[in-house]
Amino acid sequence: MLDIQHISLSYDVIVALDDVSLAVKRNETVSIIGPTGSGKSTLLHCISGLVSYESGTLTVGGMNPAELPRGDIGMVFQENNLFPHMTVLQNMTVAPVHVHGRSRSESEAEALELLSSVGMWERKGAYPGELSLGQRQRVAIARSMMMHPQVLLLDEPTASLDLVSASEVADVIRGLKKNDMTIVLVTHNVDLAVEVSDRIVFMCDGKVCESGTPQQISDNPQDQRTRDFMTSARCLVYEVKSEQYDHPELNARIEHFCGRYRLGTRTVHSIQLVVEELLNILPLEEGLTLTVSKSRDDIHLLIDISMPFSETDYLDEESVSDDLSYTIIRGMCDSIEEGTDESGDKHIHVEIRGDVL
Ligand code: ADP
Ligand code: MG
Repeated sequence: MLDIQHISLSYDVIVALDDVSLAVKRNETVSIIGPTGSGKSTLLHCISGLVSYESGTLTVGGMNPAELPRGDIGMVFQENNLFPHMTVLQNMTVAPVHVHGRSRSESEAEALELLSSVGMWERKGAYPGELSLGQRQRVAIARSMMMHPQVLLLDEPTASLDLVSASEVADVIRGLKKNDMTIVLVTHNVDLAVEVSDRIVFMCDGKVCESGTPQQISDNPQDQRTRDFMTSARCLVYEVKSEQYDHPELNARIEHFCGRYRLGTRTVHSIQLVVEELLNILPLEEGLTLTVSKSRDDIHLLIDISMPFSETDYLDEESVSDDLSYTIIRGMCDSIEEGTDESGDKHIHVEIRGDVL
């Protein structure tokens, strides 16, 4: 369906795409993930025909995208451009009626069907300004389906959405997949990519670094850059720069991290407490980096603290055994490890017990 061979594109000195090849089969859902600036949006723009590349070939259904009828390549971007002065239903039918010359009644019937499939039938008479971001995004996806695209391109469709709205958009994407749509999804949301894709492509520095099934990319990435990206995408990394760190902000970040994994209030409080007690014991003047992540088996929560070169053992049982903070940590964690890595940085690693979460 989509065949990209060796395309490259530069903006002045910036190489946005560097010899990118990618093939997407009919009815396949492929997600593109990767750090900001890796060329993901540029690649979608090339597929849509909005941007022309310098070398290589790109075809959609065997054709040059620029020669395809309008709407054959559906596009939904983060800021969906619904017409603010038109109702949801009018937004849905304006292009089919005025561009494709389809009859109004037939278009409206189809629009209502699509709106009900994305859970927006009841809001057919609303104006975009009256809808939440997530609702607008669902309408935007339904609207692009009105043109019966050969391929649908989605660029960060869940960015800036809260968790509930994001999962509603994810449901819509799953629904499209069932209806045999060919989809290319660009997203920062690794969990979304794993959930909805047949294949995930990891881009870095304008290149396709690695591609594979969601399981391969998620559980066993081969390239170090993919591994680093997947790890950081799933962690909360927080730098404590001094004793005056922003305690409420750190707590809010922990809450957000837990929200992504639908972990409850109890878990939030447990992590916040262990983190607070750890920061009570450790010296903060030199700064440290705190990482919270889920274990591979999904059962444990891990907290890792990395500190610049230090020879002291802060959690040495003998010296802190009667310390209240230490007693709390001990009581809530399965294991507490303290060690030094090759570069001489100190690492403290604790595993919060499943039953306190
Ligand atoms: P991503 O979507 O992965 O974050 P982009 O495709 O937006 O990355 O950008 C890839 C690179 O190309 C970035 O370094 C970006 O700054 C640059 N870039 C993108 N669009 C333009 C543009 N219109 N003009 C100049 N540079 C651009
Ligand atoms: Mg982008």
